[in-house]
Amino acid sequence: MCGIIGLFEKSSVSSHNGVSPNHNSAKKLVKALKLLQHRGQDAAGLLSSRIKNDHFVVKKGPGFVSEVFSGLPEKDFCELDGQILLGHTRYETVGGPSELNIPPFQAVHSDTNFSEGAVNNSSEKEKTPSMGIVHNGNIVNYFSLKEELEGASEGQRTFLKGQNDGELMLRLFQSFFMEESHSPKTFNRRSPFLIIQTCMRRLSEKVEGGYALLLIIEDVGLVAFRDPYGIRPLVYGKDKKGHICFSSETIALEGIGYQFEREVRPGEVIFIGFNGTFKSAKLAFSGYQKKDPIKEAPCMFERIYFASSKSQVQGALVKNTRRRLGRVLAEKVLEKNKFFDHYDAVSAIPETGLDAAYGVAECLKLPMVEGILKVQKSGRTFILPGNKRGTALKQKFIVRESEIKGKRLLLVDDSLVRGATLKSLIFELKKKGAKELSLAFSCPPIQFGCFYGVDFPEKNELLANQKSHQEMTTFLGVNDLFFLNEGDLLNVFDGRDHCFGCVTKKYPTKLKEGIAFARKRTAEKSILGIV
Ligand code: SF4
Repeated sequence: MCGIIGLFEKSSVSSHNGVSPNHNSAKKLVKALKLLQHRGQDAAGLLSSRIKNDHFVVKKGPGFVSEVFSGLPEKDFCELDGQILLGHTRYETVGGPSELNIPPFQAVHSDTNFSEGAVNNSSEKEKTPSMGIVHNGNIVNYFSLKEELEGASEGQRTFLKGQNDGELMLRLFQSFFMEESHSPKTFNRRSPFLIIQTCMRRLSEKVEGGYALLLIIEDVGLVAFRDPYGIRPLVYGKDKKGHICFSSETIALEGIGYQFEREVRPGEVIFIGFNGTFKSAKLAFSGYQKKDPIKEAPCMFERIYFASSKSQVQGALVKNTRRRLGRVLAEKVLEKNKFFDHYDAVSAIPETGLDAAYGVAECLKLPMVEGILKVQKSGRTFILPGNKRGTALKQKFIVRESEIKGKRLLLVDDSLVRGATLKSLIFELKKKGAKELSLAFSCPPIQFGCFYGVDFPEKNELLANQKSHQEMTTFLGVNDLFFLNEGDLLNVFDGRDHCFGCVTKKYPTKLKEGIAFARKRTAEKSILGIV
């Protein structure tokens, strides 16, 4: 999972160098990026359509958005101001922490690594625009495509600088763009948007996965695309001046004064030219993936865990969705405990369990206690690499003895993944005097890996895959465990299709290379020392 932002500012002046007509566009983008911080904390970056020394102006680095951009001199911000800007907060799912794996990525026409031989005369070189990309998601066949690109015959070969699927998609798109725009049949006869549609169709037929991406094409414009199943989110909005902003979540649009327009549709490509022309088309796919016609399958985990509770997903405020899930969860608790006198209070595991906990407490008519506090700025432990997770856990929560001592508590959390966080938290709650503890989750047990951008690809990392209900209860040290099921989620999601792969093992795409991907990622993590 990552957070992406793309900002387009209208201009009445020619903008071939991508210079913004308005100052402070870079600061605006950084502000929006901070509102997506919960989606990734490994690195942050910004790429401007402004060109300097033959490259897009870029600022990126490891850490939180504030760490990368605070203290940046005013002149550097001015240099970043561009008519189009791309921003990214990274959650590491492929490739290690090396600088080469930090988005945004760019492929410039003078880049000698790019398709040696394919740009071997100066006139073709001039026709090949530089490009930049940010994306959110995972490409399942990344490792085999990388091998294919790097092992191709001379003249066709492309070397990737890092190990990130965003860079791979950029290189593939750029090579398709070169072929389509340089073809004698098509050059000068097709509009850039038609060429972009063809390239995006070719790209999405080549890569398998869940992804949303934003691309800058030098002197051409901004492109937004969401995978054919719409697994990863992408929305856009406008401000009063008609500027446009794309984002992973609506909260970032709202934060910089943009009005949410709509979600980018699964398989839809949107193009905004530097002159402000706005075009969109939903691409037709030929059933190359699993089903024909392709059904939308947005990630259910966005609504349960990943998205900000202040964002809108699928037409509903996430906070409200989570409260509704909590109310359904309360019914499960009541079903089991018909003569209800088992609990004195409900306590949420902050922060993502909070809204569901309110729903549970409301429905069971129980008081809410703030038994657990989250230390501010501690980030999300789930999206931390394993070797940092244990230490972060200890610094993440404060258990309040005054609120929990002598009480029979029903704890509410969003989901059960590895179980390590909960086990140590429950131990701490008991140590501080909680009398009895049960756990309720607003999600079904996560039993299978995710291949589309959430970093639990190996099923043996998942508690519910390894243990029975009773074994999990014993392992966690609680009296009872409650979960929602797929049907409950579908009801709350108003019957709309979603991806439930990690719960049901029914994934939207074929996953021909799923096992190989999971193994390679595990091997990569072990080399990097990430457990
Ligand atoms: S497998 Fe699970 S986490 Fe991954 S995209 Fe599907 S629902 Fe989301």
